[in-house]
Amino acid sequence: MEYAYCWRVDETLPMLDEQEWDEIAPYLENTVDKIKKYIAEHQCDIATARANCNPEAVEKFFQLTGYQNITYDVIFYLRRSSYGPLCNNCGKLFRMPKAKFCVGCGQTIEENA
Ligand SMILES: [Zn+2]
Repeated sequence: MEYAYCWRVDETLPMLDEQEWDEIAPYLENTVDKIKKYIAEHQCDIATARANCNPEAVEKFFQLTGYQNITYDVIFYLRRSSYGPLCNNCGKLFRMPKAKFCVGCGQTIEENA
């Protein structure tokens, strides 16, 4: 696990490596069913249900990272391999594994090598 800037959330958050991702992946299944069930039980909107419908996954994320203030819907964005290398100019991750330049500062992959 490393901390890195998450483009989707606009915050620096723990990024799970592949071993950690394998541990949490079973908790990320059947999301649609969990959201539907949560809405039925709590009479809330979809956004609230997406964030809160799976406390077991949030607890697992805490066990893996020590980070407490995560919501379920955000965990899906925090797989390190979904991003490219760390930009050595601005410190953010390249937005995708095959990105040719850093969206944060424009540094090219060649300049970053
Ligand atoms: Zn950059």
